[in-house]
Amino acid sequence: MALEVRCRDAGMDCDFMVRSENESELIEFVQQHARDAHGMDIRRADVRDMLTEA
Ligand SMILES: [Zn+2]
Repeated sequence: MALEVRCRDAGMDCDFMVRSENESELIEFVQQHARDAHGMDIRRADVRDMLTEA
């Protein structure tokens, strides 16, 4: 089972999408994107809320 996060689902005007079977790796990737692209620091728990099964 793969997990997916889309910036659009979080209401961002951004085409970033990432998919992985490794939740921990996925969360770190999203946190890094949020920091680099949006200047946002998001908590792991908040990323977890954004995860959808793909
Ligand atoms: Zn984004």
